Amino acid sequence: MSYSALASRYDTMKYNRCGRSGLRLPAISLGLWHNFGGIDAYENGRMMLRRAFDLGITHFDLANNYGPPPGSAEETFGRILKSDFGPYRDEMIISTKAGYYMWPGPYGEWGSKKNLVSSLDQSLKRMGLEYVDIFYHHRPDPDTPLEETMAALDLIVRQGKALYVGISNYKPEETKKAAAILRELGTPCLIHQPNYSMMSRWIEDGLLDALDEEGIGSIVFSPLQKGLLTDRYLNGIAPDSRAAGPSVFLRKEEITEERISMIRKLNDLAAARGQKLSQMALAWVLRGGRVTSALIGASKVSQIEDAVGALNHLEFTEQELSSIDDIILN
Ligand code: NDP
Repeated sequence: MSYSALASRYDTMKYNRCGRSGLRLPAISLGLWHNFGGIDAYENGRMMLRRAFDLGITHFDLANNYGPPPGSAEETFGRILKSDFGPYRDEMIISTKAGYYMWPGPYGEWGSKKNLVSSLDQSLKRMGLEYVDIFYHHRPDPDTPLEETMAALDLIVRQGKALYVGISNYKPEETKKAAAILRELGTPCLIHQPNYSMMSRWIEDGLLDALDEEGIGSIVFSPLQKGLLTDRYLNGIAPDSRAAGPSVFLRKEEITEERISMIRKLNDLAAARGQKLSQMALAWVLRGGRVTSALIGASKVSQIEDAVGALNHLEFTEQELSSIDDIILN
């Protein structure tokens, strides 16, 4: 069935300026790490992308290695772009990354210019694109001079293969150094992609301050703690959940009794706010406006609808915030 985007797609989504750049990103972005690989149901992925776009989600986040098998999420996305999103390319912000293991030998991972340039060329082919909007270095490389990695990002922008560049998983000090090198080269660092959720708060310890100082935006991944901060595990492990499946990134052993009890308490708190737990978890990372976008994953269309619904109630009382801290930190 052919796709025509809803005329109402920009009516409700919130768009936040990304650092001190000209780019605005949706408060909710969709990542294709899980559920868009070669092993996953193609039509389900297609419906999720369509629904997301209809709800004003303009930003889609990929990486060279997303699948499984690695590369297949970019292939799936490229196929759907071609069949459904041809007229909408200029309304979309598409990102990809390089840095984690992708192919054998000394050039298939980390931060050399050889790895970044080759990997992006492969990604563009898989997605059938001439350029991506954002290209990231996926993780810091302790052995490659930061100057080389940042020069590769600058080169890629000058070649027209990416409009903007970002970094992911860099600590505060590494971030400041990378930002300074990029500024010197004339290609500002647009964005940082760290992990952040009610259960994982390391960015509050220096990274957010560094980003504010440098004028870099933030898009936080796994804001639902890979599904833990949802109703998936309220009553044990739902059979179609990530923890029940083959992903090694949320294993059954991580769904402990202690965690289930914590999730239940958080769920009660969310209900008292008139939200689902997943919605409260997204509102929490977006509270106060320091984070540009919450980068979710989804396995179903309804989860994307839930995420966008979170934007109806982003404010927290001091009492709610301290109750969340009591439940999670004690
Ligand atoms: P989340 O924390 O948002 O977890 C997503 C999972 O939570 C879904 O796949 C689904 O799992 C469950 N879920 C989502 N919404 C709901 C809901 N409303 N109700 C119930 N369950 C729900 O993020 P991810 O861990 O998936 O990461 C998001 C994105 O971040 C990735 O796709 C990727 O783009 C990026 N990322 C970047 C990394 C980096 O190093 N830069 C590392 C990891 C991710 P289920 O299958 O159980 O339904």
